[in-house]
Amino acid sequence: MKKENVIKKVYGYFLPEAWRIHKGYFAVRMGKMLTVSIRPFLSIYFIPAIIAELMGEGNPERLIGLATALVLLEFVLGIIDGTLSNVIERYGQKFENHFNMILSRRIMELDFQMTEDKKALDQLELAKNGMSWYSGGMNGLMEPFFNFLSNLITLLGVVVLLVVNAPMVLVIAAVIVAIATLMNDRLNRIEQEGYRNLAKINRIFGYLGWSLVDFRYGKDIRLYESKDMMVEKWQHFTDEWNRENIQIANKQLPYQLLREGSQIVHDVAIYFYLGALAILGKMTIAICIRMVNAASTFTGSLKNMVICYQEMVKKSNYANEYVKFMDYPPAMPKGKLPVKEGKHVFEFKDLSFSYPGSEVKVLQHVNLTIREGEHLSVVGLNGAGKTTLVKLMCRLYDPTEGEIRMDGINIKEYDYQEYMKVFAPVFQDFKLFAFRIKENLLLKDSEDMNPETEEALARETLRKIGMAEKVDSFKNGMDTVLFKQFDQEGIEPSGGEQQKLAIARALIKDAPVVILDEPTAALDPIAEYEIYKHFEELVKGKTAIYISHRLSSCQFCDRIAVFSEGNVKEYGTHGELVNKPDGIYAKMFAAQAQYYVS
Ligand code: ADP
Repeated sequence: MKKENVIKKVYGYFLPEAWRIHKGYFAVRMGKMLTVSIRPFLSIYFIPAIIAELMGEGNPERLIGLATALVLLEFVLGIIDGTLSNVIERYGQKFENHFNMILSRRIMELDFQMTEDKKALDQLELAKNGMSWYSGGMNGLMEPFFNFLSNLITLLGVVVLLVVNAPMVLVIAAVIVAIATLMNDRLNRIEQEGYRNLAKINRIFGYLGWSLVDFRYGKDIRLYESKDMMVEKWQHFTDEWNRENIQIANKQLPYQLLREGSQIVHDVAIYFYLGALAILGKMTIAICIRMVNAASTFTGSLKNMVICYQEMVKKSNYANEYVKFMDYPPAMPKGKLPVKEGKHVFEFKDLSFSYPGSEVKVLQHVNLTIREGEHLSVVGLNGAGKTTLVKLMCRLYDPTEGEIRMDGINIKEYDYQEYMKVFAPVFQDFKLFAFRIKENLLLKDSEDMNPETEEALARETLRKIGMAEKVDSFKNGMDTVLFKQFDQEGIEPSGGEQQKLAIARALIKDAPVVILDEPTAALDPIAEYEIYKHFEELVKGKTAIYISHRLSSCQFCDRIAVFSEGNVKEYGTHGELVNKPDGIYAKMFAAQAQYYVS
């Protein structure tokens, strides 16, 4: 992509949004731009005027007047500049929060399968860093833009002075600026190349940093003595990170030396040229001093403009990673069809599936129908593909071959958000949030909750799943915060309690299809019995899919699908399957019944 396009794309993305949320920011920036562009003219005008006065009449009143004016103006401009910079900093923080919030929302809206897509994860890392410290965020992008304009105003002013008195200065300055530009260009390129290589290392650092400090990993880290491994890995990647940075610095060194050298040549040439003009009597000493000043201001402004432009390109390239992530193509096509209210029929038609990036067929030619309001039990050994089946049904992934139909229509045709509303799943690896219990159940900020309807519903559901007494025993009841990340008084629920809360959350969603993936695995036998006892009531009138190893649960279900090696090997009611000669289900049931008897 061409550089100009990146600048246009990035500024075209961020400027309108910044203008939309904080118009005042631009007024402050304009004020600062004017202050900065006027400042150099103070010394260009006053210093030679003071010297001329000293060398001429030396009138003390005029001298004091000039010096006081210079000092006062510098002071006032300095104060204005400082104040505006401070306001700009504060705006910077607001912008950072705003763009982080938009990024988080985008991450949560991404197609689920991207959470396993290495390219998407790298792009996310680039986006996060690209719009924070690498580009400096909104202020980082705006700084070179407005500095460019300030320098342009200054430059136009001094060009007028130089054209009249010492035009050669313009040529000398142009040559030196051209050299410096080339060098900066190289330096920026080297830095950006290095940045790409560092993205992966930064992601690993992030992971290690998170695991090392997150106390939920603490048990495994301690009991498996994995601390040393973590620290060794940390050291390994620190070394790699250092190596990469040293390489960048080594590549940059010669260009940095050339750039500094060219500045020295510039100064010598300007002094030589202007000195010669003064000695030859072509200008007065005062004018000569003014021109020296104007020349350095000219070169400085021109160089600054080029640097600002290069900064804009460089920062746009970093910030572009953010824009790219926001525009990341969806992994799955989305339809527009509305989902009708009520119960649904699901049909799996010759469905096969491999996980992205894997050749292994986890499901092979599955054909299965789940009728309206049916309670289906899905059983089978670990790795048989049961969870994958429900993940496909929830459209977390799309089938590799075949299709899933809801009410006779391919589920890809439905509006995605509406389709998501059909399911209330409790996955094995469900997650509760470090928020209040009631917020976890209702998925709503507690400030916006209605105590009479919503909180009452949450309490009633807790009662149904046998968790009400436990929650009431906490000092803050349903306002108790889970986990200790943010609250010293937060509680650490047991695995079984967490699972009950997740089940409650699913039931409160009141979706027509409830999916429970080994919902009782972490429950004690009494709690499991409670859930079973209430199961019918809990999912009454809904379609329910129930994945479980404990076959006693199958007796609550209308039908049973036995999965093995990615396919439905047996299908029928408990009564039909339990006595089937040589049947998988019959064998599994007999084996488990033995344990129950003993
Ligand atoms: P079950 O629920 O019957 O225990 P799963 O559906 O979880 O089985 O897994 C079926 C197979 O798919 C397993 O071999 C598992 O390793 C594999 N698998 C599960 N999740 C992923 C994934 N995200 N990427 C690649 N393979 C996966």
